[in-house]
Amino acid sequence: MSRDKGTLFDYVIVGAGTAGCVLASRLSEDPAIRVCLIEAGPKDRHPFIHVPALVAAALATPSISWGYWTAPQRNLNGRKVPVPRGRVLGGSSSINGMVYIRGNPKDYDDWAAAGNQGWSYREVLPYFVRSENNEAFDGSPYHGKGGPMNVISIKRPNALNTAFLRAMQSLQYRHNDDFNGPDTEGYGLRQGTIRGGRRESGVTAFLEPAINRPNLSVLTRALVHRVVIENRRATGVEIQLGGETRRIGARREVIVSGGSIGSPQILMLSGVGDGVALQAFGIPVNHHLPGVGANYHDHVASSVQMVTSNSTSYGISLKALPRGAWNIFEYLLLRQGPLASNVFESHAFVKSTNSLDRPDTQIVFQPARRNQSTFPLPLGHGYNISVVLLYPRSRGRIALSSPDPRAAPIIDPNILSAPEDFEPLVGGLRLARRILATPAFARYGGTEFLPGANVESDDALKDYLRATTATVFHPAGSCRMGVGDAAVVTPALKVRGVDGLRVADASVFPRLMGGNTNAPVVMVAEKAADMILGRTPLPPLP
Ligand SMILES: Cc1cc2nc3c(=O)[nH]c(=O)nc-3n(C[C@H](O)[C@H](O)[C@H](O)COP(=O)(O)OP(=O)(O)OC[C@H]3O[C@@H](n4cnc5c(N)ncnc54)[C@H](O)[C@@H]3O)c2cc1C
Repeated sequence: MSRDKGTLFDYVIVGAGTAGCVLASRLSEDPAIRVCLIEAGPKDRHPFIHVPALVAAALATPSISWGYWTAPQRNLNGRKVPVPRGRVLGGSSSINGMVYIRGNPKDYDDWAAAGNQGWSYREVLPYFVRSENNEAFDGSPYHGKGGPMNVISIKRPNALNTAFLRAMQSLQYRHNDDFNGPDTEGYGLRQGTIRGGRRESGVTAFLEPAINRPNLSVLTRALVHRVVIENRRATGVEIQLGGETRRIGARREVIVSGGSIGSPQILMLSGVGDGVALQAFGIPVNHHLPGVGANYHDHVASSVQMVTSNSTSYGISLKALPRGAWNIFEYLLLRQGPLASNVFESHAFVKSTNSLDRPDTQIVFQPARRNQSTFPLPLGHGYNISVVLLYPRSRGRIALSSPDPRAAPIIDPNILSAPEDFEPLVGGLRLARRILATPAFARYGGTEFLPGANVESDDALKDYLRATTATVFHPAGSCRMGVGDAAVVTPALKVRGVDGLRVADASVFPRLMGGNTNAPVVMVAEKAADMILGRTPLPPLP
């Protein structure tokens, strides 16, 4: 692209991911305000992006992903773990799993209790609601109608989901028909950000409706090298576009929305970070802020995997060929059927110990076999349950590997470094086995492929966790919001010590929520837009 309408703007937004698209749309609603949105990746034209069931293919496509890996993880036998991030218009919302979950209400009350005024559940709920057009819920105070982002209940989930739901019922768990209501606990079908059988990304929901505004410029394939800071004030950004280095000026503010890996990297390249570490790379220090890059954490998971010759699951096989051919035809003709679904259709939020005040594990059912190769679509048949640790205690860091903005930073989530992180995962694997052993699954004839029947003791399961745990792509916290010295941004999302500079994306979460992260990032950006424009916050709900 470039819809470049000059080089001096009121607001410059770095990164057109989930948050950047929301901000560009909201800030440019006023035609008198000039906004520039800058994205390192290309336009979102790749066909894998738009077909929901091709999510695994989309996230593995190198031309639209940064292709990041973690540093070798000490507690995972030295393994490196993939960390896909969208490098494309829409950012990670263009390659994500489209699951629509906001987290537990108590998570936001915890943010507020830690000093982040304005971020309690009652205060953030109106922003979730404003962003949403929920096709399924009418008249609920927890849901929006007419907002930009379309949310649906999956119309024809795979039949194996019924087995999962029956299994949970037989084990006396509670059914939940709205995981985004006041109580997240229980099992049920999940909702997804899908519109008319196609992915609903930050672009389709927020950016496309705004793209023709004369006051909005969108630059793609433009890598931001650094924020220009003069006399402790952000005055613009330096970018590389088509082999040329250029400056884009910001009269009012620069908003960094590069995501949990990109945002701390950009701040550090701009001389905002740990002074000693920056000097070691020869980067002039604009503001010593050691919290930049720290507090990095992610949801992690491991799974119990079943294989079967029964062909009910999603998957490619000779038996399933006629059905697959019909599904392709059905999708092309009607935008319906399995290809219009995001595959991850049911789950449960479960407390690993009854005494907890909220669920700490997410039990995700997948009606598809896990490939042991890098092939992006399921080969053969099976089903599995992933156990996601919602509140990891382990903390790591994003650090520069080089002063070159083109070099990947060091990504170290330090997975399973906190010993407390093992127990909920071990308990979750045991629960997954119980679920899969209920009569509800008997007719599918699955046999456990991993961990395997011989992996039974706590020690053996811990070894299995070290060998298999990976992230579920929800990195957060590396530019944390807060009031203490460790905070990078204030509760107004202003970078401490530098004027005219904010961060708004998943990196500002002080702590991950008990759920998926895209909707919370949308909420953060919606609220950030109001704060930037000096608008009165929406009245608390309900
Ligand atoms: C594979 C995958 C599956 C997921 N599944 C789900 C799910 O099902 N449900 C859910 O709720 N969440 C899911 N998530 C998480 C969710 O998508 C993210 O939390 C969310 O998109 C993060 O938004 P963000 O704005 O913080 O960052 P991003 O969306 O990653 O945006 C950052 C943008 O900044 C750009 N950028 C970075 N550095 C620069 C630079 N120097 N110059 C210019 N541009 C730059 C990037 O290219 C990118 O476009 C998933 C994520 C992934 C990767």
